[in-house]
Amino acid sequence: MIIDGKKEAQIIRSEIKKEILILKKKTNKIPSLTVILIGDYVPSQIYVKNKEKSAREVGIHSKIIKYPKNVSEKEVLKKIDELNNNMDISGILVQLPLPDQVSKEKIINAIHPSKDVDGFNPVNVGRLSSGYKSIIPCTPLGCLLLIKKIEPDLSGRRAVIIGRSNLNGKPMAQLLLKENCTVTVAHSKTNNLQNECLKADILIAAAGVPNLVKESWIKKDAIVIDVGINKVGEKIVGDVNFEELKDKAKAITPVPGGVGPMTIACLLKNTLECFKARLT
Ligand code: NAD
Repeated sequence: MIIDGKKEAQIIRSEIKKEILILKKKTNKIPSLTVILIGDYVPSQIYVKNKEKSAREVGIHSKIIKYPKNVSEKEVLKKIDELNNNMDISGILVQLPLPDQVSKEKIINAIHPSKDVDGFNPVNVGRLSSGYKSIIPCTPLGCLLLIKKIEPDLSGRRAVIIGRSNLNGKPMAQLLLKENCTVTVAHSKTNNLQNECLKADILIAAAGVPNLVKESWIKKDAIVIDVGINKVGEKIVGDVNFEELKDKAKAITPVPGGVGPMTIACLLKNTLECFKARLT
């Protein structure tokens, strides 16, 4: 089965749209997302534009604040402080990567945890790993929602994640632990990666290595989630050799059209959650 991330993301977006309409009627307020974009890195510009467009489509007020690539860290921190204190702003996102003079750690720490729609602030990371309610990073949340569509009860399943980044691998591991999976986090220093992958009932590939996972790396009927987005020539490919695996896996995400659309849908979901938390 090929998992249609576009379709699932569309379902989430229409639910969000409906909920925002209801909340607007009740409170006369709508969620608001501010995205800070620094520099002229083309992929970041495209991501931010897509995020803004998707937010508008579901009824979230969205604003992009742009800075030149030589902006000072102090100026960005001052803006974040201002946004933190603006009660009309539900969510703040600073598009990564950042130029060298702006510390990623300081920026992530500066965003108030209640407005941290990316879920990267250490307070949210800590809450997630403690098993408390938190804002969950968008891509792992999207992956989990897709996996649970295939298998609602993951208890006792063996999950293997390739990649240990703060963005993907680590929060994914926490989410699957919470679902009672037995979790292995593999990475670039893992010995015999193929052996680890062969144990997986659920395999999540988030390494950023084109076509890393081959047909002989998975057991029959594994669920395979491909997070990778890699440019090979003019083509975008994942970390999984889709053609080889598609008949062996129980379910598999394509690239593009799998995890990518879910990431944006989950950003909208997080923005709505931040807005709702402020209403209570
Ligand atoms: P990263 O570079 O921060 O982390 C990659 C991880 O993979 C590291 O932990 C590293 O140890 C591991 N790794 C690298 N090569 C490996 C190998 N040969 N074998 C085993 N492990 C290996 O990357 P990231 O930010 O986590 O992103 C990973 C991929 O996911 C990239 O292709 C990125 O473009 C993509 N991505 C997709 C989405 C989406 O919405 N679909 C969102 C974010 C990132």
